[in-house]
Amino acid sequence: MRTVISLDEFRAARLALPGSVGLVPTMGYLHEGHLSLIRRAREECNSVVVSIFVNPTQFGANEDLSKYPRDLARDLSLIEPLGVDLVWNPTPEIMYPPGFQTWVEVEVLTRPLEGTIRTSHFKGVATVVAKLFNAVQPHKAYFGQKDAQQAAVIRQMVRDLNFPIEISVCPTLREADGLAMSSRNKYLEGPDRAAATILFRALSAAKAAYEAGERNAEKLRTLMKDMLASEQRAQPQYVSCADYDTLEELDLIHGKTLLSMAVLIGRTRLIDNFVLN
Ligand code: AMP
Repeated sequence: MRTVISLDEFRAARLALPGSVGLVPTMGYLHEGHLSLIRRAREECNSVVVSIFVNPTQFGANEDLSKYPRDLARDLSLIEPLGVDLVWNPTPEIMYPPGFQTWVEVEVLTRPLEGTIRTSHFKGVATVVAKLFNAVQPHKAYFGQKDAQQAAVIRQMVRDLNFPIEISVCPTLREADGLAMSSRNKYLEGPDRAAATILFRALSAAKAAYEAGERNAEKLRTLMKDMLASEQRAQPQYVSCADYDTLEELDLIHGKTLLSMAVLIGRTRLIDNFVLN
């Protein structure tokens, strides 16, 4: 496994990779969720590239960029045994050289859900992923269902900009009590850790109601909000029952549906979702 920083070094190393290339973009501080994407890439591609880059442009002014957890040595020790070929760990100056002024904006899909709270987030995400795609030129790229709207935005960008890349969206890995794995779970201390399972419990309750025949989307949203209200440490930012593809809120559930939410547990912002088929 080779780890490189500069773009020139990365390009040379990339050119030497044989066969089909799978890319797993990450912001580091890796957990089993990231590793599951890497394992999938290893199974499906001849060569595997992992990028580790905490992308400053996807953080809002009052978000946690400077506090975002980082531990490159630990990350490398976790991925080395998985048979990764090449790790790219560029600096912010490499990704955003002085005078940078070209952005990728996906319009409609970025407005609801996360877009209502984190207004410039997906502009940063789409731009950095487009830059990674250009540098890596992968055949396949792997993203987590955990960030459902991000996956939808990337799929849209790939269609709109004709990237010849297959996007694979992989299942959300969870802790034993249902909490979706996330680098931000590190911030959950004391009673916040137990309280954080309320997202999984609320989503599970809505899914159970759906499976029992409930098709009124507002009833499912209300059910999830009521469950969240039962946990005093939880402050919901949005609770959604939306069309899986358009992310538009539904009245009546028909077809593939995304149940999703963003909730503050203390000062930690968590997101989670379930897909109803
Ligand atoms: P991040 O480092 O948070 O930007 O995540 C990098 C990739 O890992 C993204 O495609 C995420 O959706 C994915 N990911 C994050 N958490 C999980 C999880 N619990 N299960 C599966 N994939 C995940």
